[in-house]
Amino acid sequence: MRLKDKVAVVTGSAAGIGLATARKFAQEGAVVVLCDRNADAVSQAAQSLSGNGVTAVGYTVDVTDRAQIDAMVADVKQKFGRIDVLVNNAGITKDAKLVRMTEQQFDDVIDVNLKAVFNFTQAVAAVMLEQESGCILNASSVVGLYGNYGQTNYAASKFGVIGFTKTWARELGPKGIRVNAVCPGFIETDILKTIPEKVLQGFRDHCWLRRMGKPEEIANVYAFLASDEASFINGTTLEVSGGLTV
Ligand code: NAD
Repeated sequence: MRLKDKVAVVTGSAAGIGLATARKFAQEGAVVVLCDRNADAVSQAAQSLSGNGVTAVGYTVDVTDRAQIDAMVADVKQKFGRIDVLVNNAGITKDAKLVRMTEQQFDDVIDVNLKAVFNFTQAVAAVMLEQESGCILNASSVVGLYGNYGQTNYAASKFGVIGFTKTWARELGPKGIRVNAVCPGFIETDILKTIPEKVLQGFRDHCWLRRMGKPEEIANVYAFLASDEASFINGTTLEVSGGLTV
């Protein structure tokens, strides 16, 4: 129970890594606040986690809408009195080669993966600054370390998230708030469903563990970083890729 009674917000938690993280946090004793733009899925997810001593609530929020973020954060503060952990997990891809990428594809990915991380963190940081403690975890990617073919928009967003992490670690560290980023390799979730099997096999072959990761293997890392076991880890970017880039 490493997160006992900590109030943890996980964005994009109706599916994939976000849902696995919400589940892991619940197992570790946290009060889990799920949010996702997929209304049915987020309410089902919150319901499935609730009970047996677990408190889990779900909010339908599009993270690209600052008004929705502010309303949610105010409600969470009112209900639970504090926010100890924020996982900025919601993310999308809209892949195309540089010469074919539309401005819309570029803007859509930047809006969810980068601008929303700024907006959500700014709203939650106000609460954490008041309580003089907190932990912010940002979803970057190995693509945010090395770039990737066909992912101009996604790479820019994930490099940007690392920039946020290092900047906020400096700004918020002295106030008792730790900020870190996780860079997953290729993890078996819906986000990969547009990628052809041949390319996915290439990811497996290039990984030194010869497989893709599971959402739970990223959730475990978020749980560690959110816990007091990681109390001296601030401003780091942790690659969790099975050795993909070694
Ligand atoms: P996923 O597609 O399985 O889940 C993403 C969730 O985010 C979905 O529930 C979706 O509804 C939600 N979401 C998307 N846009 C939203 C919005 N505007 N507002 C609210 N919710 C929104 O994806 P995943 O693979 O679990 O990815 C989670 C995070 O991990 C992303 O930031 C992704 O970039 C990152 N990541 C994933 C991989 C991977 O291989 N799966 C690798 C590196 C990084």
